Amino acid sequence: MKEIHTDGGLVTLGPTALRVRQALDSVFVRWAAASGAQDVLYPPLTKVADLARFDYFVNFPHLALAAAPVDTTGLAGLPKHPAAPDARLEEDQLGPAGYTLSSAACYGAYLGLAGERLAGPLALTTAAQCYRREREYTGLSRLLGFTMREIVMIGDPATAKAHLVGYKELILGLSAHLKLDLTTDVATDPFFDPNSSRATMQRLFPVKEEFLTGDGVAIASVNYHRNFFGERAGISVAGKVAHTSCVAFGLERWLHALSERFGGGWDAALDAVLAFDTSSASDTDPAPDTGPTSDTKPAPDTKPASSTKPATVGEAAP
Ligand code: AMP
Ligand code: ZN
Repeated sequence: MKEIHTDGGLVTLGPTALRVRQALDSVFVRWAAASGAQDVLYPPLTKVADLARFDYFVNFPHLALAAAPVDTTGLAGLPKHPAAPDARLEEDQLGPAGYTLSSAACYGAYLGLAGERLAGPLALTTAAQCYRREREYTGLSRLLGFTMREIVMIGDPATAKAHLVGYKELILGLSAHLKLDLTTDVATDPFFDPNSSRATMQRLFPVKEEFLTGDGVAIASVNYHRNFFGERAGISVAGKVAHTSCVAFGLERWLHALSERFGGGWDAALDAVLAFDTSSASDTDPAPDTGPTSDTKPAPDTKPASSTKPATVGEAAP
């Protein structure tokens, strides 16, 4: 059985590749737990109105995919077996779409907390099947459907920024262990209109850093959204509008990096990831900036951020 099969941006993982993905995810989940993050599962679809609240259709309409109902008034015209491989449901065979497929895991977190007044910072982690309409699809590195693990911080500006500093070190530590030779780069989100005020603002005041493999594929990103999601979702922390940040891992892209590194040897890749798990399991605290946490309450990061990025305006990207 093939370990990886991709077709039009959709991937099937065989048993060993899947175990590698699970082993990687367990590393990220353990980091999240050490930050006091609570594990949450959000709905698989997002209401159109909720995405509009985050300016998604202004900034990233080209990435969006909607989930529309099939119109049952024209049953005779619906595709039947044997259908052409590229068979489609046409516009007039669909009803209005009230939902979209998720394009990032962390939107669920802000929507799930909408209207909440938190007493202190809150860390959450979630994994979601995400979908993005891309210009083209390439192997494991550019998919239509992929899995994103995110570790999100909702807090005051210093806590939100400190969250990212700690994870940057962790990601580089894992990459050194796996000999992935990652580099980091300040990045901007793929805005539909690169000249929009928000895109310009992001270029002037960078809020996103990516971790890139030798072939230029971003396998993780750290993102500071300032007060954007806090304001739009009406979330406050200790009486002030929440600032948020997230660390995002594209799990299939990590598989891509490991596949390159181990020449497609999935057993060797699995051993390498598990070895990191084992060696770091004995460490006292895998998250350098977070400090000890309690089981019941998420522990906020307390160290002031060393980030040089200014915190002045809102940002729209996840
Ligand atoms: P972003 O929100 O663009 O920073 O995406 C978070 C992470 O998701 C990226 O760092 C990638 O690892 C992953 N990712 C984004 N787009 C894709 C895609 N089309 N296929 C596979 N992984 C992706
Ligand atoms: Zn995010």
